[in-house]
Amino acid sequence: MGKSIAIDGPAGAGKSTIAKMVAKELGFIYVDTGAMYRAMALYLIRRGIDADDTAGIEKACEDADISISYENDTQVILLGGENVNAFLRTEEVGNMASVSSTNGKVRKKLVALQQKLADEKDVVMDGRDIGTVVLPNSRCKIYLTASSAVRAKRRYDELTEKGLREDLARIEEDIIKRDQRDMTRSNSPLRQAEDAVLIDSSDMTIDEVKDAILTIAKEKL
Ligand code: C5P
Repeated sequence: MGKSIAIDGPAGAGKSTIAKMVAKELGFIYVDTGAMYRAMALYLIRRGIDADDTAGIEKACEDADISISYENDTQVILLGGENVNAFLRTEEVGNMASVSSTNGKVRKKLVALQQKLADEKDVVMDGRDIGTVVLPNSRCKIYLTASSAVRAKRRYDELTEKGLREDLARIEEDIIKRDQRDMTRSNSPLRQAEDAVLIDSSDMTIDEVKDAILTIAKEKL
């Protein structure tokens, strides 16, 4: 078992940006578990499987060949050996992932892959159930959140920077809907582990959050 930092929280709290910086600083590997759920979703979409077809999802999930490699410190998700990183961040894939990740068989398969990675390496792992299910024995757990208004504004700015126009109110509605689905599902719902430290990043800069996590990590690991 390597050392680990488990970071959970809702969409748009800044988990991946900060987890990447913390990993770099400590020389740990960054594991983006959301990307694994997205890769599974991409596989289901490519196979033409419908989001409400539970039997179809469970059957396809067995066949899905998802693995991880690292190129220049960047996590590469391989689907049947193909680098699919470029296809994972679309709304279509995100919405499918948010539904297919409620399936117990999908979770079982991906949790096993995540636990194997943490067994072999020192990791900063982010997701929704890392502190509660994937790495319950991790000594350093963070629950990173921010208000839905702040998270929507960050997402809006990110899209604007890419030249995309979206409605801020609609983004916030989507965020609230996704939080609701992640927090109320019966399989591994998003919640703060009892031994996790809560950080609300609404009024913090990225560097402040990074430094706060590094301080906690130094103390706990
Ligand atoms: O974090 P990201 O938006 O990439 O995650 C995509 C979806 O995968 C989330 O909406 C969430 O439902 C699911 N997920 C999960 N458990 C994780 C990571 C992500 O259920 N550990």
